[in-house]
Amino acid sequence: MQKLLLFDIDGTLIRSNGAGRLTLAYALERLYGTAGPLDSYNMSGKTDPRIITDLLTAVGIAPKEIHKKLPAIYELMAEHGQKIFPEKEMSACPGVPELLAALARRDDVLLGLLTGNSQLTAPLKLAAAGIDPLQFRVGAYGSDALDRNDLPTIGMARANQLTGSVFNGNNTLIIGDTPADILCARAGKATAVAVASGWHAADTLAEYHPDHLFDNLADTDQVLQILLA
Ligand SMILES: [Mg+2]
Repeated sequence: MQKLLLFDIDGTLIRSNGAGRLTLAYALERLYGTAGPLDSYNMSGKTDPRIITDLLTAVGIAPKEIHKKLPAIYELMAEHGQKIFPEKEMSACPGVPELLAALARRDDVLLGLLTGNSQLTAPLKLAAAGIDPLQFRVGAYGSDALDRNDLPTIGMARANQLTGSVFNGNNTLIIGDTPADILCARAGKATAVAVASGWHAADTLAEYHPDHLFDNLADTDQVLQILLA
């Protein structure tokens, strides 16, 4: 039976060095003249539409109005990302290139993304960190849902559609670096794999009881053994 591995991007596959925050600031300032309380806002594990809605409602813009503009905001973010990502020295997290290379050689896994980034920005970020986005055959993105917990079902449905196989919580793993990734895996009844390569220490992640917890993904053999057990 094939397994579906859904990877988060920021803090899990790559380090984006604050580039996402800059693209948000650019897009919101272009369209609204303000990015709201962006400087003090905790983006950890949140989807782009969640972040955008929080920032703009804080300065009095109606959610309905924000919702209408989301596609335009995603486009501006991607446009700016294309320009600045190459200058931000983004890089793959430890062990990620080796792990992806090992996974690419196996036919018992299907690789996908589950990220708060929009579908436009996700491949740009990966490419800027030297990771080929095309190896991820399915994705569930921030541009699909405001609530991260809605993304597992979307990712599984796309995997089912692509392959004709049945993917559900029993054969899906969600790999991420924040408590929100663990809760999202729970919402999808999937296996929660936490990795402390982002902003959260392993101790903090452990409090959310992931099924598996790694300091990083550097030990390819050990990670493969656990992911594919
Ligand atoms: Mg993350």
